[in-house]
Amino acid sequence: MRKTIPAVALLCAAMMITASCSKPVEKETETSASAASTTVSETTSVPETSETSGTTQATETTETTAAPSEFKISLSGKAADKTIVDKNSYYEGEDYVIYFEKDSTVYGDTASRIDSVMHDMEELYGMSYGNKEYAVNAEWKQLYGFGNLGQVNSSGDKIDIVICKDMSDGSIECCDSNAIFLFDSDFEPERDNYSILYHEFAHLLRLRQSPNLGKVLEEGIGSYTEDRMARSRGESAWDTIQYVSDDIHKIPYDDSVIVKDPEQEFRDNNIGDRADGQKEYQYGIRFIAFLVSEYGDGIVKTLSENACKYDYDSKDNDAIIKIIKESTSDDIFERFAKWLPKGWKAYSRDYFKYMEKKGLM
Ligand SMILES: [Zn+2]
Repeated sequence: MRKTIPAVALLCAAMMITASCSKPVEKETETSASAASTTVSETTSVPETSETSGTTQATETTETTAAPSEFKISLSGKAADKTIVDKNSYYEGEDYVIYFEKDSTVYGDTASRIDSVMHDMEELYGMSYGNKEYAVNAEWKQLYGFGNLGQVNSSGDKIDIVICKDMSDGSIECCDSNAIFLFDSDFEPERDNYSILYHEFAHLLRLRQSPNLGKVLEEGIGSYTEDRMARSRGESAWDTIQYVSDDIHKIPYDDSVIVKDPEQEFRDNNIGDRADGQKEYQYGIRFIAFLVSEYGDGIVKTLSENACKYDYDSKDNDAIIKIIKESTSDDIFERFAKWLPKGWKAYSRDYFKYMEKKGLM
């Protein structure tokens, strides 16, 4: 089973310590075999714990579907109900299919967590996952060893949510316009942490509305949404600590590069290499925080709608900047540079206050 980052993935979570994600790629173009597969042992799995007898279980169904029913599972809705699946399995929801990699841990509340996150995202941005116009049904199943489930959602009519066993090998969660790749550990109830779900599902929602807006805007939206929603739920927001600083907490990113030439810095980061300090995330979260503070949450929808007017790709800086200015103002980058020193300081201060109040630091 694959354990490297899927080459079909467009956008990823940002984790400084595991910057091993393949560079985000253009949609529709990437079916590279570079996502090497590694074999997992064929030992039969047994339930990890005996916490409960009401575990998720494989059930025979008689539904009239071409999908192999022996791989279909049901979910109890309870986090405490967990089991390990001994074969690639799937759960079918109304709008999505969840695939569980062989040997991964399945939590009974997986679908209800996803429902909750998707609902929150649609509410926040006023956009719908039901918009399929820009959804690309990538050929990932054979590539990543889910061949036994090839008939499931073969039309791509539903969203594919892929949950793999977390091997803690530096792989990170990813997303494209019709699929999300997550780890089973993302659903551990003791983590009390929806952050990663918000990040990836924000990507998914955005990518279904228009062509890709480029990695600065897309990762900005993912990272900003993750921080905001984690905090709104009263949970830890540790991922954000790599973007904020104060007199005590320092990060290896100097905001003055933005202040000096905000538009050029945007251009450079949009086509730059993620390995170079993940600047697209640094710039992106600041820029989205600024845009939301100026224009409200609706700015994400406005950007999406304006993007639909153009035929461009995610590295076409001229087109993306045109979309941004059309959605805001011609002097938006100058305004951003003016806002940044105080604006980001205030954002950082709020973050640290929150984390301290939660007893997290
Ligand atoms: Zn991301």
